[in-house]
Amino acid sequence: MKYLKLLFIGLLIYGCKEEKPQQNLGLTTSLYDTYEKYRESELDKRRIKHRDLQNLISDHQNDPGVTVKKVGESIEGRDLKLISIGQGTTDVFLWSQMHGNEPTATQAIFDILNFLKSDDFSEEKSEILNNLTLHFLPMLNPDGAEVFKRENKLGIDINRDALRLQSPEGQTLKRVRDSLDADFGFNLHDQSTYYNAERTEKPATISYLAPAYNYEKEINEGAAMP
Ligand SMILES: [Zn+2]
Repeated sequence: MKYLKLLFIGLLIYGCKEEKPQQNLGLTTSLYDTYEKYRESELDKRRIKHRDLQNLISDHQNDPGVTVKKVGESIEGRDLKLISIGQGTTDVFLWSQMHGNEPTATQAIFDILNFLKSDDFSEEKSEILNNLTLHFLPMLNPDGAEVFKRENKLGIDINRDALRLQSPEGQTLKRVRDSLDADFGFNLHDQSTYYNAERTEKPATISYLAPAYNYEKEINEGAAMP
């Protein structure tokens, strides 16, 4: 899990830098070495719940440049909150845990907020925050997380609800997506450990699925991104 979360931070930084990957090896190592400093220890358990996030969100609300907005509610009345930071013209929208039993990216979001709040890596962080505005919606399915289940309270898989929009959580996601009209969207999931990097025995640490933009599955500029 440590690797996934680190790579996630690395991805944000590399996305903004124009240096060649080779030059970033030092940065990768520094991030790896200092990771424990940013790891959110309040979210150590595998089964994290909505109430575990609320104090953390309230704390981060006071971080420089952070705004927090309630954007909706789950069926059982749990608040869905959008945490935004950055002044860049490129908007990035990242939501986690639409499957209640997939907590890793929710944990990663709070690691990233700790990382952004710290005084370290200031050069890299100003690159990120001057180029991007990051919008995090952690734990889109808090009712599912409460009972460590994939579906929401009504048994709806929110990842299959994009067209019907039967769930309030799916409706919130659509409304926020439409209002941000973000340049990049990350639908963050856990992945079974059975997946390997292609033609190797190494387990996949992080995977990207970029859905095709048309039925012919052609590649356009957006789909060519990792
Ligand atoms: Zn999932």
